[in-house]
Amino acid sequence: MKSHAKAVVIGGGVVGCSVLYHLAKAGWTDIMLIERSELTSGSSWHAAGGFHTLNGDPNVAKLQAYTVQLYKEIEEISGQSCSLHLTGGVMMADTPERMDFLRLAHAKGRYLGMDTELITPSEAKAMFPLMDETNFVGAMWDPVEGHLDPSGTTHAYAKAARKLGAEIVLRNRVVELTQEVDGTWNVVTEQGTVKAEHVVNCGGLWAREIGRMVGVELPVLAMEHMYLLTEPMPEVEEFNKSTGREMIGVLDFKGEIYTRQERNGILLGTYEKACKPWSPVNTPWDFGHELLQPDIDRIAPSLEIGFKHFPGIEKAGIKQIINGPFTFALDGNPLVGPVQGLTNFWCACAVMAGFSQGGGVGLALSNWMVHGDPGFDVWGMDVARFGEWATLRYTNAKVRENYSRRFSIRFPNEELPAARPAQTTPLYDTMLANNAVMGDSWGLETPLWFAPKGSEPKDIVSFHRSNDFGPIGEEVRATRERVGVTEIANFAKYEVSGPGAEDFLNRLMTNRMPKSGRIVLTPMLNEFGRLIGDFTIAKAGPRGGEDRFMIWGSSAAQKYHMRWFEKHLPKDGSVRIHRFDQTLVGLSIAGPKSRDLLQKLVDVDISTKAFRFMDFREMAVGGAPCMVNRITYTGDLGYEIWMAPAYQRLVYKAIKEAGEEFGLVDFGMRALLSMRLEKNFPTWFRELRPIYGPFEGSMDRFIKLEKNDFIGREAAAKEQAEGPKLRRVSFIVDAADADVMGDEPIWAKVGGKDYGTVEKPHGYGAPRFDAGGNEVRGSNAAEGASAVRGIVDGDWRVVGWVTSGGYAHYVEKSMAQGYVPAALAENESAGLFEVEILGHRRPARINVEPPFDPSGEKMRT
Ligand SMILES: Cc1cc2nc3c(=O)[nH]c(=O)nc-3n(C[C@H](O)[C@H](O)[C@H](O)COP(=O)(O)OP(=O)(O)OC[C@H]3O[C@@H](n4cnc5c(N)ncnc54)[C@H](O)[C@@H]3O)c2cc1C
Repeated sequence: MKSHAKAVVIGGGVVGCSVLYHLAKAGWTDIMLIERSELTSGSSWHAAGGFHTLNGDPNVAKLQAYTVQLYKEIEEISGQSCSLHLTGGVMMADTPERMDFLRLAHAKGRYLGMDTELITPSEAKAMFPLMDETNFVGAMWDPVEGHLDPSGTTHAYAKAARKLGAEIVLRNRVVELTQEVDGTWNVVTEQGTVKAEHVVNCGGLWAREIGRMVGVELPVLAMEHMYLLTEPMPEVEEFNKSTGREMIGVLDFKGEIYTRQERNGILLGTYEKACKPWSPVNTPWDFGHELLQPDIDRIAPSLEIGFKHFPGIEKAGIKQIINGPFTFALDGNPLVGPVQGLTNFWCACAVMAGFSQGGGVGLALSNWMVHGDPGFDVWGMDVARFGEWATLRYTNAKVRENYSRRFSIRFPNEELPAARPAQTTPLYDTMLANNAVMGDSWGLETPLWFAPKGSEPKDIVSFHRSNDFGPIGEEVRATRERVGVTEIANFAKYEVSGPGAEDFLNRLMTNRMPKSGRIVLTPMLNEFGRLIGDFTIAKAGPRGGEDRFMIWGSSAAQKYHMRWFEKHLPKDGSVRIHRFDQTLVGLSIAGPKSRDLLQKLVDVDISTKAFRFMDFREMAVGGAPCMVNRITYTGDLGYEIWMAPAYQRLVYKAIKEAGEEFGLVDFGMRALLSMRLEKNFPTWFRELRPIYGPFEGSMDRFIKLEKNDFIGREAAAKEQAEGPKLRRVSFIVDAADADVMGDEPIWAKVGGKDYGTVEKPHGYGAPRFDAGGNEVRGSNAAEGASAVRGIVDGDWRVVGWVTSGGYAHYVEKSMAQGYVPAALAENESAGLFEVEILGHRRPARINVEPPFDPSGEKMRT
């Protein structure tokens, strides 16, 4: 074993081997993988080996599609077969709601070039005759599904990596990790110590233990998972013989089961409701190639439905039940990337679908390590997406919830209950008493909307407009016409101070820093000129003669942004950065009467001239020391008021009492988001993400190319000079009883013209056949619509995608934001666009100016 390496990958499961292969392929050959036992000694060896491309996050779906495409490549390089069976598969819907869900998934997949199709239950039965199709109302066909040999695939990655120069050390456990002052890692193993520049945690079942070696508690937990294998079945053999093909994979939401052909029989796995964590606190180091005791009672309810839906399987004898553990993060997606607070410590763990995701995870992580950027929008699997609140017990509750809901629909207005409430502000009980419906905002309880007195504060979950529609409308109208108050504790807040603070921020941000007492809005870019942040920054009065800046940003991106800030902090200690988290909380008041209200609570002049739009001031509000921004996300006259938690109840009470004479109402996050829509304001993580340039994101006025050199400036200047390819736009949509949610395709009537923004289909799909052996294409029978396959339909073409939307209550319009080719971005013609809502294409029109207060006069008054 060598004593030095550029990178050490810990763990030889499918993920570690994929990371090793991708690093070697990217040109890092001085790398080694260290495995405690033999390759595949964690969960990889007993996986069912299924793969598919669909994922709730379209960006993760894209990386899954890459994984499937990769298998041919590693087979060729390694000479090792993965035993790939690209059969295609169907998802079966048993209710109209599940069919809505499939329509949504189908629509989302379209702009990613996915080749899914909505089909009838009979069409599905033709490819999987063991089902009773009368249990279902429709299905979605995905050609890029199948199964492979887990062990062969892991070895194919490993052999391919070796061929490219990587070293693999087996039967050698990593026992300790320490770091030198210069950042070098000491990887202490049973066979000696390796000095490494980078360490990657691919520990699978032991990822949590490896995290603990560096003082990090990763939010990952292993769950027991069972699948059964039947004896050979004559029906399967007969189907194979008569059609010359294998049976397809089937996912049954109602039964929480997946099933497919395995040799001459059937494999059937369950995600049962009564799920069971495995080794919830510590994973034993001596766990090896072992299986767990099957527990048929636990999966009996799923099997009962399964046998009803697939009566052909019930008759077969069960040959074996496999029960093995594998790991999950809170939301079921992987934990990938550099861990905030550490240097050169990387994660690629909690990969629950290693054979769908392993390739994409390896590619993204190797890009990140070698080139400094994952090269894709990997937020959906970034290890930074969870905060300190994701403790061991929190993780346990959320992972169990996620596992038991694996095949359940998550409605757009659905808040999940497990592990809540976790963090609360001092106003939590008051908000509950006010009949607030609470939501989880990065682990913090936040009011979403207020149910009318006497009614139960509860969402009726739906893809359509629901019981919050009326009350949110009331909140919006009262705020727009009088004044409203809302909690904004869920924003991220930081203070940057020290003699180097201003230079530091000027180097990171695209806008000029504000003068003392003023506020600016500013995006932040990475080196490639892509949007990685959007902030409100105020310059506070100096403290001890040093500059001090307050920064507000997206709550969910706190660790993501801290990681970036820390990476760029000057080494000379001239800049300090403090993340407040919930040690600073806030309230926002907005609406035409908000100034009159606030004036009653402060002892300074806050008239238009004395406290201007975009001013910042420290002042006492209702007797409590506060910081006040004259700005609000509602786009109206309004204020954000920030205070220590100990004062929040005092300030809220003062606002409520002073507001009585003005008809003050409480409003929640949903009303706030509705109001921002009618102002065409973007949101971070929806409209603004690291896949867009600042001009694509229509952030032009915040990009000051002529100021000092800032990170991403060169790339942004190039984007501007060449002209952005896409533009963020706002639409008014002719919707019925459902509004857009995000990720839906945008169609345009562009004739034969190709605007070239939509990704080409990946062209790696298995054809689909009916029982008679004829290729079936483009029927869309379940949708009841004329054939719309791929991205072109006569003169209509998918030209972009929606990023978010909803109902703009004050202007009484359904609105959406999204990206379209720049050449179309200012075309407000009616009849040019359609946006797909739940599978139905709805007329839409670009609205360049915001429908509410287009001149911005109201917020400046
Ligand atoms: C019953 C079952 C069915 C499944 N079905 C599917 C399926 O159909 N499709 C699919 O995609 N996925 C499936 N999975 C999940 C899949 O197995 C995992 O996604 C995958 O194995 C994760 O791989 P990994 O490399 O992250 O982890 P692991 O396979 O757990 O590998 C981690 C490796 O790290 C090593 N290691 C840990 N700590 C150390 C240390 N300190 N020093 C050195 N080495 C160390 C371990 O020995 C192990 O080999 C299934 C899992 C189970 C249990």
